[in-house]
Amino acid sequence: MKKELPVSANAKNVVSRLQEAGYETYIVGGAIRDMLMGRTPKDFDISTAATPEEIRQVFGRRSARIIGKRFRLAHVYCGGELFEVATFRRAPGKNDQTSGEEGNLIVSDNVFGTSFEDAARRDFTVNALFYDPGKREIKDFTGQGLGDIERGIVRAIGDPGLRFEEDPVRLLRALKLVGQYDFSLDSATENALFSKLPLFELASPSRRALELEKILQSGYGDRQLEAFHDYGLLSLFLPRLDQVWEKETGRRAMSLLFERNCRMEEGFFRNSLSLAVAVIALPFVEAALGRAAGTLWSPGDGADETVEQIVGTLFQPQNLMVRVREAACRILALLPLMEMRDSRMERRIFSSRSYGHARELAFILAAVDKKDPGELERLWPEIPPERGSRNRRSRGRRSR
Ligand code: ATP
Ligand code: MG
Repeated sequence: MKKELPVSANAKNVVSRLQEAGYETYIVGGAIRDMLMGRTPKDFDISTAATPEEIRQVFGRRSARIIGKRFRLAHVYCGGELFEVATFRRAPGKNDQTSGEEGNLIVSDNVFGTSFEDAARRDFTVNALFYDPGKREIKDFTGQGLGDIERGIVRAIGDPGLRFEEDPVRLLRALKLVGQYDFSLDSATENALFSKLPLFELASPSRRALELEKILQSGYGDRQLEAFHDYGLLSLFLPRLDQVWEKETGRRAMSLLFERNCRMEEGFFRNSLSLAVAVIALPFVEAALGRAAGTLWSPGDGADETVEQIVGTLFQPQNLMVRVREAACRILALLPLMEMRDSRMERRIFSSRSYGHARELAFILAAVDKKDPGELERLWPEIPPERGSRNRRSRGRRSR
């Protein structure tokens, strides 16, 4: 189908250079889906007939780096943007694809193939659309992707049960699409999802953690988590959140996340993973420290240890990156200090590198608790005065 999609100039450039070198190349994946849905894609993934070495020859060693051991692909830098460029792959043959012990679970996924085979090995029809920006042409190799986007349907490519067995992370990926776009599952995919749900426990912790990060950063996390809960996946993915889902703590966590996502979309604050973690953990901390919602705990008396314990375990069995965990703890530790409105604390608050995040959390909280943000505006300027003057001093030192 011919259609003009709003692809960035740099992405077009990467595609056309590979095509001019003789390699069939497309933009693929979530970006096509997002553009067809009228949303701005967060990045453009590219698939090509060129092998990683050939990609490197086209762009040169300085602009293209081969990464990954198990699944090799190239990172291509163009106009200050980074693109993931992957070689077309096919689903591995029956004998080399599975682990033996775990039935159909795919353990190796790095066999090059054609563009058609590359579409067929993808998870859902709406994720298997390829776009040639030069020709302004969408290739729908499964024949159902465009119709499914239009009707809002998540449909596994091939036998849904088998596709979930091959890779149980797809259970979560299907429901991410349900939450993000308000799509429905096609009935065969839905039946297979319910029957294969227990397999989710076989999904590798690192890939689960990667999906968790993307969910928290997506801006649709609240709706995706809701879809997980509706289909019974949340108890396997985030059991601690699932346990309190119907209770005040769970409802409050989702209201705070919703508010954070709205404010992020409105441009109040950047996309921060540690802030999202702090937002979800906040009601758990309130509950553990025995304060009523809307009244913050007092710092000291082991409060920091409680915060660390909650942030450290809330998202298990996935592990958060240490850096993210520490930043979320800093944000949560600042919040009650800000609430105290004690001028002796100002220096410590303003000089914290988590000040901006904690300030944003205070605004999110005020919105959810329906408090007037005017006082926050007055007390906590966007740029902390202390830090401003310190930066000026340090710039001075450097220039000397
Ligand atoms: P997002 O907007 O969250 O990035 P996405 O669909 O682009 O969504 P990615 O994880 O970036 O998700 O994956 C890019 C593409 O790779 C997908 O659109 C899909 O075609 C394919 N893909 C990713 N994960 C799988 C999987 N587990 N099984 C099969 N295909 C997959
Ligand atoms: Mg993507």
